[in-house]
Amino acid sequence: MPISRFDAYSFDDWRPYPRLPDHLEADALCRSAPIDWFFPRKGMPAIGKRLCAQCDVREECLDFALTNGVHFGLWGGMTERERHSERQRRKVQKNLE
Ligand code: SF4
Repeated sequence: MPISRFDAYSFDDWRPYPRLPDHLEADALCRSAPIDWFFPRKGMPAIGKRLCAQCDVREECLDFALTNGVHFGLWGGMTERERHSERQRRKVQKNLE
């Protein structure tokens, strides 16, 4: 059985990374998926993105990553670079309101 992102949080070197709150983790589709799908060493995380697209807590997961300034890995279906763009987009939108 592959190691999931949630299994990894029990390792010392993963503790600095925030963990999804329990109420989101329970519905997270990545709970039992291989961690490499969400923290790929190179290339686009296409498989992880496909799973995120079907996840019931995608919006909450993305909001969590944006709110907590998570800079590493795939969260809410977005890469670090995509979340940076999303942060900028939300700032602009907020300023226009
Ligand atoms: S949106 Fe993706 S990264 Fe977030 S909980 Fe769902 S499957 Fe996991």
